[in-house]
Amino acid sequence: MAKDSFVENIADIESDFPQWYTDVCKKTQLVDYGPVKGTMVIRPYGYAIWENIQRELDARFKATGHKNAYFPLLIPMSFMTKEAEHVEGFAPEVAVVTHAGGEELAEPLVVRPTSETIIGNMYSKWIQSYRDLPVLMNQWANVMRWEKTTRPFLRTSEFLWQEGHTAHATEEEAVEETMKMLGVYKEFAENVLAIPVICGKKTEKEKFAGAVATYGMEAMMKDGKSLQSGTSHYLGQNFAKAFDIKFLDKDGVQKHVYTSSWGVSTRLIGALIMAHGDARGLVLPPKVAPEQVVIVPIAAKKGGVLEACADIRAQLEAAGVRVIFDNSDNSPGWKFNEWEMKGVPLRIEVGPRDLEAGKVILFRRDTLVKSECNLSEITNTVKALLDCVQRDMLEAARVRRDERIVKADSLDGILAGVEAGNFVKAGWCGCRECEDKIKEKTAASSRVMLEELEDELCAVCGKPAKHTVYFARAY
Ligand code: ZN
Repeated sequence: MAKDSFVENIADIESDFPQWYTDVCKKTQLVDYGPVKGTMVIRPYGYAIWENIQRELDARFKATGHKNAYFPLLIPMSFMTKEAEHVEGFAPEVAVVTHAGGEELAEPLVVRPTSETIIGNMYSKWIQSYRDLPVLMNQWANVMRWEKTTRPFLRTSEFLWQEGHTAHATEEEAVEETMKMLGVYKEFAENVLAIPVICGKKTEKEKFAGAVATYGMEAMMKDGKSLQSGTSHYLGQNFAKAFDIKFLDKDGVQKHVYTSSWGVSTRLIGALIMAHGDARGLVLPPKVAPEQVVIVPIAAKKGGVLEACADIRAQLEAAGVRVIFDNSDNSPGWKFNEWEMKGVPLRIEVGPRDLEAGKVILFRRDTLVKSECNLSEITNTVKALLDCVQRDMLEAARVRRDERIVKADSLDGILAGVEAGNFVKAGWCGCRECEDKIKEKTAASSRVMLEELEDELCAVCGKPAKHTVYFARAY
């Protein structure tokens, strides 16, 4: 039966979530595996989502005063070793170029895993005076981190991202920038990706190599695991000292700058898939969906149907809606399945009998609910419905997540909580030993610390708690 063939091709989301994820990635043609192990090819449908993410984020970066620039892919090995924690953190996963032009290079070159070092080097040349500050830059780029186990979008050797890099005269300004960009990410995740996120400070163990403090945003996937969806780092003067980024301050004294960096990547596409997807495949929020509406003719040969479809498409396009008219010779049932699997937020079914009555049928991908719409009101109705889908998807994701946040006051409690697919809030004394023990016994890691302390005691050792922490298994 053609009607169910797509759904049958996707593994069951309830019983085999990892395979479901892989199937959705491949069968909706978001991504394919590259010839080099651990690399991915982002196909046009996946890249269109990334372009929508880029457009929305880029506008927000520019609105907060940042400018885009581009720095080289290759970094001298000696740069990586200048910041001790940084080199230690990234050493296991860097790819190194040793030969070029048929010769061995005098100094090996690192394929950037991130750009703090090369940007620090350039900032040391560009920043001389307090008048040169703040420097607020972003770059859209690829980076490479050699990974042993890989999964499309979540962990691949090469991925696309943006990395913001800023330099400031004072600690206060740099911290403010770090928190401001975390806020930009949160607003973007919620209002564009329809994914509610939990933001907070990372523990020492989980912070970025070379940062004074790392702040992350964590999103819950449908299997209850967490996906770190963005990070913002306060770097203090660590990179400024390593790369000698100094400025002459108003008081005539030479001082090191304070820097921040922040990034999100194509991981966000993985977050979209796993936060919203269902048994039929992708469910995309309208703001990032490559196509927001698909028009499917029913009994296309009957008089007036194709003309009506073309007319609806023209009206919606004129109103700025991303719309596709599927005029292929597949059956309507086949088209329904295909576009549902690809997560198109709205479907318009145009049939001869409805047309006679001046109506079409609208189908919402997120709720699977059908409704009638008068042809004369199609544009306004579709636009309002897309807004509604966008809002409802966020709300539904928030309800799903909030139902799965539990508290625990023992190691067994944390284990039971994460086994059941929850985020677990628990008290923590602040020592690495207890954090490691949780990881070892439950396979859950500390995601972020809450601002408020909600617990009196550490769930592991029973000593006084310094923080309440979200623990979860994570991608
Ligand atoms: Zn403890």
